[in-house]
Amino acid sequence: MSKQTRQQKKEEEKRIIAEMEEALRETKGESGAQQPDSEEKVRKSVYATEPEKIHCRRCKTLMENGVCPTCGYKMYVPMDEKKRNKIRFIAAIVLVVIGVIVFAISKM
Ligand SMILES: [Zn+2]
Repeated sequence: MSKQTRQQKKEEEKRIIAEMEEALRETKGESGAQQPDSEEKVRKSVYATEPEKIHCRRCKTLMENGVCPTCGYKMYVPMDEKKRNKIRFIAAIVLVVIGVIVFAISKM
């Protein structure tokens, strides 16, 4: 009895594994057919965030570094961290200089 049940279990396992493999093959085939489409979408979304690939809001021309070569329309380009830190550093110096000037004027 125990041997039969084991054999039955093995057969069931084989059947289940075969079914799973079939299901895997089917899903692989489906995803394989859909992959290029989704990849292209991802690439497009990535390019859309790059300033070089943004189209002008006025004339729809491909913009170069956030500036339209056709009509000169400037678009807001998000600054990178280095530029931001530089501007913060310059702003801090300017504030200190203004503070010193105000202090000097109030002393006169
Ligand atoms: Zn333009």
